[in-house]
Amino acid sequence: MLVVMAHGATKKEIDGVCEAIKAMGYTPLPMPGAQRTTVGLVGNDRRVDGSLVAELPGVAQIIHVSNQYKQVSREWRPDPTIVTIAPGVTFGGEDVPVIAGPCSVESEAQILESARAVRAAGGVALRGGAFKPRSSPYSFQGLGRKGLELLALAKRETGLAIVTEAMDDEGAHLCAEVADCLQIGARNMQNYSLLKTVGRIKKPVLLKRGMAATIEDLLLSAEYVLSEGNPNVILCERGLRSFDTTSRNLFDLTAIPVVKGLSHLPIVADPSHGTGRRDKVTPMARAAVAAGADGIIVEMHPHPERALSDGAQSLTPDQFSELMRQLRRVAEAVDRSIAGSPVGVA
Ligand code: PEP
Ligand code: MN
Repeated sequence: MLVVMAHGATKKEIDGVCEAIKAMGYTPLPMPGAQRTTVGLVGNDRRVDGSLVAELPGVAQIIHVSNQYKQVSREWRPDPTIVTIAPGVTFGGEDVPVIAGPCSVESEAQILESARAVRAAGGVALRGGAFKPRSSPYSFQGLGRKGLELLALAKRETGLAIVTEAMDDEGAHLCAEVADCLQIGARNMQNYSLLKTVGRIKKPVLLKRGMAATIEDLLLSAEYVLSEGNPNVILCERGLRSFDTTSRNLFDLTAIPVVKGLSHLPIVADPSHGTGRRDKVTPMARAAVAAGADGIIVEMHPHPERALSDGAQSLTPDQFSELMRQLRRVAEAVDRSIAGSPVGVA
């Protein structure tokens, strides 16, 4: 339930509503807005009788949120949420930031070369997994803590923000020491204990859609993070399992406008995992920006043929630079702009 206060409602009136909500056994969440304050009611698992609150002074309207997810819904918050992961790196506004880097952190030379290429082409954040969720236990599992140290080094060298995946509670705390944004991967989208942990850590979260998850599942997972007091969630479409084997996944572009209708949270697109093929990444990244994506996350490796994971879908630095050039033009056509500029270009 959402209590919309009248324009100019006083602090005393807002406090009165909060007290009434507490007296009913729920938690009030006051949200001051540009026009007026709303007070959310959380902690209920069914419809609440709002008649007592509706009669309090200063209350304009009671809205019952129709979906199971509440705090992530557009009904709860009509204005877009802007998530800032590092100074100047924001998702959900006019800017469209590009996060790029290898699937996995493999060595100092590899991650530094990657970071420099990302920065040179105008990317604003470096991706790279230190803890890797691999289908086979015999595949490269990531460098772990050493990988995090190398990401910290790349950040010191280039100033790029860091996005890296946490796979469990312990890893989430370790990653949070280095990362500007914690990635929750597709395989962990419904790991509710991990979602609660990153909700409590309060670092921005990049939450990837599970490979067989509905949009409602995705939004409910985001709700877990918000319900722990962390509003900084960026959603990510990364493709779904499908019967068609011509691409690794079925990249669900429709999810971008659908999510924007249902939620105020920003959504970014991952055309690398979405397609699984290097030559398909650029066209689908262009399409995602045209469809309204609030950012792009893309895999790029200085030597994709030697990559320890996801080489087939990793762009070369030159291809990445060309992608950035194309994305700037597409963004302009939809009244957005790609965040950052290539180094050396004003
Ligand atoms: C990744 O980003 O490298 C990754 C493992 O992604 P996903 O969780 O989308 O498969
Ligand atoms: Mn990958």
